[in-house]
Amino acid sequence: MESSQRECVSVATKDVSLRELRDRLAEFAKLRGWEQYHSPRNLLLALVGEVGELSEIFQWKGEVGRGLPNWSHSDKEHLEEELSDVLLYLIQLADVCGLDLGQAALSKIVKNAKKYPILNNPTPRSFNN
Ligand SMILES: [Mg+2]
Repeated sequence: MESSQRECVSVATKDVSLRELRDRLAEFAKLRGWEQYHSPRNLLLALVGEVGELSEIFQWKGEVGRGLPNWSHSDKEHLEEELSDVLLYLIQLADVCGLDLGQAALSKIVKNAKKYPILNNPTPRSFNN
């Protein structure tokens, strides 16, 4: 295998940045010749499909407690995989649209803080769970 065709498949144990994920996804697609298929529309549809797979995990379970008590290891692993699929397609979609998703998300948090100022009202009971 030529060095240009090698890809890093190691699993990092440190904090991972959106930029690192974006770069690794771009390399992954490039090495497989998949860039041609990664139009914004195609990536959006793939993202929606993955959201559906994520939703299926929770479908018919009723309300689920924080930390997923009583879920098996394999159920949690499945959830990790589908959450990752959603995240990875979201990052790719932002990338092919030429957007900095991390910066956009930070800006959105600031906008939300202005839109929903902290009030002195008591916290709604449903938020205490
Ligand atoms: Mg999936």
